Amino acid sequence: MNALAVLYGGSLTRAAFEPLFPGKNALTLALEQARRFPGVTKLVLLADLCPALPADVSLVSRPAWTKKTLLQTLSELSGGFDCTYYAWADCPLLDPVLAGTLLERHLCYHAEYSYADGWPYGLAPELLAPGVAGILANILGEDDAGPVERDALFSVIQKDINAFDIETEISSIDLRVHRLSLSADSRRNLLLLTRLMDAGLSSAADSERIISAHPELLRTLPAFYSIQVSGPCPQACSLCPYPKFSTPGFMEPVRFAALLDKISAFSGDAVLDLSLWGEFSLHPQKRELITAILERPALSAVIETSGLGWKKAELEALAEAASKAAPRENRMAPLSWIVSLDAADANRYREIRGPGFAEAVECAKTLTALFPKDSYVQAVRVKGAEDDIEHFYRSWKKEGAEVIIQKYDDFCGAMPKLQASDLSPVQRRPCWHLMRDMAILMDGRVPLCRETEGEILGNAFTESLETIWSRGEAFYREQAALHYRGPCAGCDEYYTYNF
Ligand code: SF4
Repeated sequence: MNALAVLYGGSLTRAAFEPLFPGKNALTLALEQARRFPGVTKLVLLADLCPALPADVSLVSRPAWTKKTLLQTLSELSGGFDCTYYAWADCPLLDPVLAGTLLERHLCYHAEYSYADGWPYGLAPELLAPGVAGILANILGEDDAGPVERDALFSVIQKDINAFDIETEISSIDLRVHRLSLSADSRRNLLLLTRLMDAGLSSAADSERIISAHPELLRTLPAFYSIQVSGPCPQACSLCPYPKFSTPGFMEPVRFAALLDKISAFSGDAVLDLSLWGEFSLHPQKRELITAILERPALSAVIETSGLGWKKAELEALAEAASKAAPRENRMAPLSWIVSLDAADANRYREIRGPGFAEAVECAKTLTALFPKDSYVQAVRVKGAEDDIEHFYRSWKKEGAEVIIQKYDDFCGAMPKLQASDLSPVQRRPCWHLMRDMAILMDGRVPLCRETEGEILGNAFTESLETIWSRGEAFYREQAALHYRGPCAGCDEYYTYNF
C-alpha cells in the first residue's frame, strides 16, 4: 500500500495553533495522527501560510483556496498513490485505527470514495481512489471559486452521486445527535477537545463510551445570544407573548458595544439575535448597533423583524456595509435577516399579526433581493392552518426566497397549546438552549432561557458572563440526569436548535 495523506489547513482559526494536549496544538497533533494512517508514505499540508513543519511533511501553500483549487491540487498530488486520505488539519483526534478500518472496506469493495458516519466530525479521514479528485475537479465549473468547507468532497460528489462507488463505515452508537465537531476551529470546540482528551478520549472507540457517559462535558460556551435592544413593538401578535415581556426604551449603543466586547472575550465567536422581545427597526440608532457588530469579525448578526418600520434606502445601506465587512470567524454571513410574516394573505395576516401586510411583504422582497442567501421569510406552523402554511411555502419559494417554517411555541404555558404536531424526539435530551444560548434583557438580566423570566441567572452589565453561564450549569446537569423541573418540565422547546 502506497497511500498519500493530505490535511487541509487553508483557513484554520487561531484555535488550531493554541496549546491543546499535552502542550501540543491541534495542527501538530493532526499531523502526528495522519502520519500513522495505514500505508501512508507521503504527508502533505495544504495551507494559506507557511508554518514551521516537521521535515517529513510537504507544504503546498496558496494565499487562498477554493473548492476547485483544492480538488486540482489533490488530483496533482495523488498521482502514483493507491489511495488518498483527506482531512482537515485542525482535527487532533484523527484515528489511525478507524482510518485503517475505512481503508480495508474501501479496498475490499473497490470504492471510489469512503467516509465514516455516526461519529462526531473530526475522527475519520475521507478516502479517495486514484483519479477521483480529478473527476471531481472537472464536475465543478471552471469558475467555481466557492470556499473550501468541511464537506467540500462530498458536496461535489453529491452533484452526481450515482456515478460514484461509495462506502461508509458506521459507528455502533449513533453520536450525531450530539452535533459535536472535534475540530479546533473555535474557542468552544477547543474547550470541548480539552475536556474530552482530559477524560481520556483518544480514539473513535473511546468516543462511543466517553461522550455517552459524560454529557456534562458537552456544555462549553454560549454560541447564540438573543439580546433585547428594542423595547417597543408595533404589533401585538397573537402567537407571541410579547406584552408579558415588554420593556420600554432601547439599549444604548455604548452599552451594546461593551456587551459585544464581553461576548467576544467570553465565547470567541457568536451569533447575536436582535431584538429579543421588541422590534429592532424602531431602535433610533440601529445603524450604529449593526456597525458595532460588523466591526467585530468574531460576531454575526441575525435580525428578526416584522418587516415594519424599515426604509428601502436604509436596507440598501446595510447591504453595502455587510458586503464590505470582514469575513466572520464562524464562517457565517455577517448579517442575516428573518422576516416574520406568518401568513400568505392579508386577511390571515391581520388575524395573527394585525395591519401591515403589504409593508412587511415589500420589506421581505427587498431583503430577498439585497441578501439573497442570507434572508428568510418565516411562518409559525399553527394547528388548523396547514393549508395557509403550504400556500405560504409555495408562494415564497416561487419568489426565490428562503423559507423557515417554525414550530409553534407556547412559552411554557404562557400561550395556548396550538402545536400542529408533536415533533419531539422519542427520548428527551438536555435542552439545547441551556447548552448553547444566552438571552439578555434590556436591563442586562439573563434569564435561564428566553421562554421564561422566572429564573434569573445574573446581570450581563454588572457581572462576568462566565459567572452567569456557570449558574446555568446545575440546570443542564439536572437535565442530563433526566430530571426536568419548573418551567422545563412541560416545555417542548428543548429540542429546537439555534446556530
Ligand atoms: S427546557 Fe424549555 S424552559 Fe427549560 S431551559 Fe430549555 S427552553 Fe427553557
